[in-house]
Amino acid sequence: MTQYNGERPVIIGSALSGLAVSYYLSKNGISHFLLGRRPAPSRPRLGESLDLVGSIEMQLEFPQYAEFYRPKNNVGFYKDDHAGVVCTNLTGPIVNGLSWMIGTPFIPLIHIDRVGFDSKFYDDITRSPHCTVIESTATGLDYDADQDRVTGVVLDDGARLEPTFLFDASGFESRQVFDTALRITRTPVGRKQYVAFTHYLESDGNSENGGPPPGWKHSTNLLRLVARYDEIDGVAWAIPLGSYISVGVSVDADAKRHSDDELIRLTDAAFEHRGVGYKSAFDKPTRIKGIPYGHTSTPRIYGTNWVQIGYTSNQIWFTSSSSVGASVFVANLAPLFLRSPRRAGRLYERYVRSLWRTHLSHESMFCQPIPNSEHGASRKLRLDMIDVVSGNEDRYILYSIAKGRGEPIHSAFRYSFQAVKKLPGRVGVLTKRYMRVVRSDDLAEQSQSIYAKKMTHCHLVGP
Ligand SMILES: Cc1cc2nc3c(=O)[nH]c(=O)nc-3n(C[C@H](O)[C@H](O)[C@H](O)COP(=O)(O)OP(=O)(O)OC[C@H]3O[C@@H](n4cnc5c(N)ncnc54)[C@H](O)[C@@H]3O)c2cc1C
Repeated sequence: MTQYNGERPVIIGSALSGLAVSYYLSKNGISHFLLGRRPAPSRPRLGESLDLVGSIEMQLEFPQYAEFYRPKNNVGFYKDDHAGVVCTNLTGPIVNGLSWMIGTPFIPLIHIDRVGFDSKFYDDITRSPHCTVIESTATGLDYDADQDRVTGVVLDDGARLEPTFLFDASGFESRQVFDTALRITRTPVGRKQYVAFTHYLESDGNSENGGPPPGWKHSTNLLRLVARYDEIDGVAWAIPLGSYISVGVSVDADAKRHSDDELIRLTDAAFEHRGVGYKSAFDKPTRIKGIPYGHTSTPRIYGTNWVQIGYTSNQIWFTSSSSVGASVFVANLAPLFLRSPRRAGRLYERYVRSLWRTHLSHESMFCQPIPNSEHGASRKLRLDMIDVVSGNEDRYILYSIAKGRGEPIHSAFRYSFQAVKKLPGRVGVLTKRYMRVVRSDDLAEQSQSIYAKKMTHCHLVGP
């Protein structure tokens, strides 16, 4: 059994969330233990489409990993007879003018290649002299309920760490053990879900054949499967990531009748049916994985000397792409959590409240019926999208506050300016400049119809 000396903060989990916390602790000269092994570059992965906070943080704080970022120019969504697209990278004369005056480059929303990113990030972050890696698994926590303090972290070789502060970034795997130790009871929200997901690799010799790439190739594609058309009910994603595409589907766990392979086959067919024909460009299958999951809210996300990070704390609709953003938000607050857990925790609670409002917008968009009339349907989808945009804006403002702390004034201004750039989003969606909704009985035309006309002031980045 190894003995570890020195009272330090401990991070459990060495994927993106835990590594981001380690980065900010090292940046502030704080020595700490990081528990976990180098993330294997294995497929498939989750957490690949980023929201506003996640996108801005990755590109401004970690520009050296640009090879793993892909532009997310749009979010395309397909529901029943309706399809829509919202442009996520807004520009325009006012935005461009301000941008030029302040000398800030345009920062697009992105997808992130987690397969490559997490391993490279691990190699770089763990080089810091402030980070001591312990390649073990935490098997339990000692918790003093009276003081709401974690007093020990027990490792699989029997060793025990005494953390000054615990950052729990362990994701799904150890939830039961750590929640029990911290006496946290989660509240399930909605029905239990089951997710099957995979990556398809690019076909040999695939090229864009000279023509412009189809719109879906630079979008997060979200699809509500309905039994009437697709044999199953569910919510699916297709996220292009350069040389591969991430595909998955979430179904009601209690109603699940299909194997993982069948769920993916039905998802492929449903996308193809709407004109999102990714199988012709990405035809090499890789492993298909299936996991149960559910939306859950948590009454306590931090205590006297501990905090749960990102998806480890509250789990909302993955279609919000908000979990990596939530993790990097907490990572920015890591030094403040050590000094004043209450102040940091209150900011985090506000962030989580905004996440739940976003959850409800997604619930409405994907799970509530669409009105019959064309006008009614279009109006409903637009209002749902406005909620999604404004959720991003709310979280961005909280992030600017977290980011502005301890940063030089110029840097704080630079981050706040990104908010100014994004605020026209709400107006843009309302005025139909950045969003299009179409109704088509012929589902095969849906993808083509929504991407047919160029949207004014929609800045297309990449490939
Ligand atoms: C269907 C689905 C789709 C999603 N899509 C998105 C999306 O598009 N965008 C988004 O932002 N988020 C998404 N998420 C959430 C996403 O999974 C997380 O945001 C993301 O993976 C965050 O990375 P992470 O580092 O927190 O966690 P993970 O990648 O889960 O890593 C946790 C790490 O902790 C380690 N660990 C676990 N237990 C222990 C232990 N006891 N001791 C030591 N180490 C331990 C694990 O081995 C792992 O390395 C999605 C989630 C689901 C379920």
